[in-house]
Amino acid sequence: MSNPIEYLKGVGPQRAELLKKELSIFTFGDLLSHFPFRHIDRTKLDFVNELTPQNDFAQIAGVLLDFEIIGQRQGKRLVAQLKDKTGEIELTWFQGLSWVEKILERRQSYLVYGRVTFYNGRPQMVHPEIELLKPDDPTAKNYLEPVYSSTEKLKARGLGGRQIGKLTQALLAQLHERDIAENIPNVVLQQQQLINRYPAIRQIHFPQNNEAYNAAVKRLKFEELFLAQLRMSLIRNNRHRFSHGVVFQKVGELFHSFYNHHLPFELTNAQKRVIKEIRSDTASGKQMNRLLQGDVGSGKTIVAVLLMLLAADNGFQSCLMAPTEILAQQHYATISELLKGIGVAVKLLTGSSKSAERKKVLKELIDGELKILIGTHAVIEDIVQFQNLGLVIIDEQHRFGVAQRAKLWAKATIPPHILVMTATPIPRTLAMTAYGDLDYSVIDELPPGRKPITTVHRYESQRHKVMDFIKTEIKKGRQIYIVFPLIEESDKLDYENLMKGYENVKAYFPEPKYWISMVHGRQSAELKETNMKRFVEHDTQIMVSTTVIEVGVNVPNASVMIIESTEKFGLSQLHQLRGRVGRGAEHSYCILMTGSKLGIDARERIKIMIETNNGFIIAEKDLQLRGPGDIDGTRQSGAFNFKLASIVQDRDILELARNAVEQLLENDPDLSSAENLLLKQYVQKSQKGIVWSKIS
Ligand code: ADP
Ligand code: MG
Repeated sequence: MSNPIEYLKGVGPQRAELLKKELSIFTFGDLLSHFPFRHIDRTKLDFVNELTPQNDFAQIAGVLLDFEIIGQRQGKRLVAQLKDKTGEIELTWFQGLSWVEKILERRQSYLVYGRVTFYNGRPQMVHPEIELLKPDDPTAKNYLEPVYSSTEKLKARGLGGRQIGKLTQALLAQLHERDIAENIPNVVLQQQQLINRYPAIRQIHFPQNNEAYNAAVKRLKFEELFLAQLRMSLIRNNRHRFSHGVVFQKVGELFHSFYNHHLPFELTNAQKRVIKEIRSDTASGKQMNRLLQGDVGSGKTIVAVLLMLLAADNGFQSCLMAPTEILAQQHYATISELLKGIGVAVKLLTGSSKSAERKKVLKELIDGELKILIGTHAVIEDIVQFQNLGLVIIDEQHRFGVAQRAKLWAKATIPPHILVMTATPIPRTLAMTAYGDLDYSVIDELPPGRKPITTVHRYESQRHKVMDFIKTEIKKGRQIYIVFPLIEESDKLDYENLMKGYENVKAYFPEPKYWISMVHGRQSAELKETNMKRFVEHDTQIMVSTTVIEVGVNVPNASVMIIESTEKFGLSQLHQLRGRVGRGAEHSYCILMTGSKLGIDARERIKIMIETNNGFIIAEKDLQLRGPGDIDGTRQSGAFNFKLASIVQDRDILELARNAVEQLLENDPDLSSAENLLLKQYVQKSQKGIVWSKIS
């Protein structure tokens, strides 16, 4: 299986180079895992006079009437006429002309397969797959023929999909069962009723029938998911067993005093449970690496505060990092207010901290005087040194890159405990595959007394009514957010739109009766802060902004969230924005504004937003609509390079694989028993540099 691909008969050094470059096929094994994307039944032929523009692909057998090379330079092409008993179809090649010219012969029969297009009412195929039809070709019957993806460059060298199939067939003919070693333990195969690896690989390429094909696919999907889960679980287990972490032994004075006398509300059960989970992690002597998920408004901040007090009780410093300046400031304000009577030092460090203040903070950190630091990415700069950093909490993790997080590890001799908090709920399947190596806690309960948010869709033509509605809310003393899309802060058009929008709002709500704040990414940090502050302190009733207010900002008196050009936002972003309201005692509203023209996807997103307030359901839908590659923060994780399995469609297989892995490791955590030896070797061999998972 690990033989270089050039050793395969019919490949040779030149084609091998291309296979490596174009399809990353380096070895025999790689060729076998270049799975066909579908199969065609070669006994089924289409007829030329039955082709319609509705035909996507067609397979036609006919006699080659004539062909010629016409045109010049870019326009140079080979055009051929193929005739079956019902009519004629034109075949065209723009590339690989000399190769095509060589294989074509007039008056011979060919089988062609390709996408059908119509030109002047006549059917044609561009770059069809073509093959000489021998009168009684044994391969023409009996089995489903695999169709492989290829590239133009490969096709030009005679390595189209059909030829790749031929190579695969030749390779399989040479291989024996022992060459394709089983990598899943027998017990698991029996339990899951899966076929062995060898027949599975044969059958996925050249199935006897549909049932055989399905059994092969099921086995190979399971294998992919099983191995991925196993790798992550091994990493997690190893950390649990061998990592070395600082110990938060006791719950001390600071924690108790805050918990008993200064907690502004009763914790929810979910909050209590999460604190307990983390408490036992941090007392274990192992390093904690935990993801904490909780929907917007579920109360993650207070959990962070209690944990930082726990660290301080044990003599350790902690640091809370937020993705934006505004959010860091707000955390700082909230937390220093909460901890006012407690007698523990809390300071803020951001990119815009004044240099005198910065110096002071840096000194107090190294002296160990300062126990709790709140900041932005400024805290990971090398100049920031701690005396004994014991806990790092990262809020809204998807905005911190892996490399940035890695810098944190270098700040203490024993790596600090790490808690990553995210309000973007991650579907369970995604969490399992992307973060399977992390420990994982969920706050799945909102604090009591929250009123649900009413979400509606309004068109531009209804803007007057929307503005009137705002007026009545303001009259009641409420505040309003109006958010414009400005995904890239540098986007000129979006920026102009925001300014136009602002002028428009001002026209409806003139001073001095109304006051408006505006916050966007092009403003200086000070200006942003001033404007934000005016809104927080209710000096202004309306906040016009871009998505810089998306995360974390907390103004309980705000009761209406208006989202402009809703179609430009993704689902999870819409949900985040909506989470800015519904934080107080009043009934809140989210108004999704759009023009009259809307795509299907945008309609679907709006429908989902109206139907549910549940972030976990929204995350699932988001995953279904967009696929895993686009979910925030997971694109770079490399966790989804599955060839066959899809974490959306195959979640049942994923669950089965997950359970199988758990059971396996429970009985044999090191995979040291004889029957798991092959599996262990297989996992180690294919564990090429997965470092990202160490440092989340
Ligand atoms: P998020 O999880 O989105 O960061 P926050 O920590 O900002 O949520 O909490 C949202 C709001 O809910 C805050 O005003 C906070 O004071 C309040 N809150 C948090 N926990 C509780 C609770 N157990 N009971 C009542 N209110 C709570
Ligand atoms: Mg928060």
